[in-house]
Amino acid sequence: MSEVLVVIDHAEGEVKKPTYELLTIARRLGEPSAVFFGSPEQGDAVAEKVKKYGAAKVYVVDDAQIKGFLVAPKAEALQQLAEKTSPAAILLPSTFENKEVGARLAIKIGSGLITDAVDVTDGGVTTQSVFAGNFTVQAKVTTGTPIITVKPNSAAPEESEGAGTVEAFAVTVSDAAKGAQIVATQPRQSTGRPELTEAAIVVSGGRGTGGNFEPVEGFADSIGAAVGASRAAVDSGWMPHAFQVGQTGKTVSPQLYVANGISGAIQHRAGMQTSKTIVAVNKDPEAPIFELVDFGVVGDLHTVLPAATEQIAAR
Ligand code: FAD
Repeated sequence: MSEVLVVIDHAEGEVKKPTYELLTIARRLGEPSAVFFGSPEQGDAVAEKVKKYGAAKVYVVDDAQIKGFLVAPKAEALQQLAEKTSPAAILLPSTFENKEVGARLAIKIGSGLITDAVDVTDGGVTTQSVFAGNFTVQAKVTTGTPIITVKPNSAAPEESEGAGTVEAFAVTVSDAAKGAQIVATQPRQSTGRPELTEAAIVVSGGRGTGGNFEPVEGFADSIGAAVGASRAAVDSGWMPHAFQVGQTGKTVSPQLYVANGISGAIQHRAGMQTSKTIVAVNKDPEAPIFELVDFGVVGDLHTVLPAATEQIAAR
């Protein structure tokens, strides 16, 4: 069976859920091999985790020459791994960084690239939402090794035992690839909530909050959700830009998206309309958001959300 390379998404060796989703998808295309960019000492522990989701091999790439730089060294490393393994496909979690890595890799190995897929079939056909969410398209790479970045929450992770054989992979990074160096990083302050782009549930607030996000945050916390915001809420200074969902913010694809006091402008939809189930709370029954919801509540969010939070707490 052909090998499918899956780039592991992790923070200091803590494997993130999108990795397991990708391994599940990779099994439709061949036999997954996971690629770990990190410290070799963490390789065995990472392999123990990813083999439960079908990783036959785990390539450990010492990131000493990679992590202090921007994306180019990673693209070179993947090129060398692709040349060694001739994989049937290369899958990466859809992050800003990985989309650029994928693009550089595609040029290097003469392959096609598809970004932000929300589904991949066993025939390699992907589903994407394009042009600010106006169209849903099915596409397939027809040149070279398909390189596909896949959005979080695109598949439910399914366990399947793989061999998880660890193999150190030595890379040679050119001086040219080390041109852009990272000089400082600033850790984001943790909110204690799930990461917006990975969360299974996102509860967002818009201009309708009037700047009071307490009902939105309270409801989000009652169901273990991440908090998002419309641009109107961000531009008003009520929430930081990191929380913005939409065309010029983050793209989310959770199991459940709850939009509160958000009208449903096309630029907001672009960032959330591939969510599996969409619920809106809006006091205007004519609000455009109601065109795309699965469930809608016409009402004041300052009344509806505390009532819903109370109901959940009572369970
Ligand atoms: P509004 O459109 O003002 O809607 C507020 C809604 O709240 C209304 O429907 C109202 O009925 C309802 N409401 C009011 N009070 C209550 C209450 N008490 N209870 C319940 N409901 C209430 N927008 C984004 O969100 N993300 C983007 O990334 C983004 N990118 C953009 C890029 C460009 C180039 C441009 C031009 C625009 C972009 N926008 C983006 C802005 C977008 O066009 C809208 O202006 C914005 O989404 C509106 O935010 P909103 O729905 O919160 O506010």
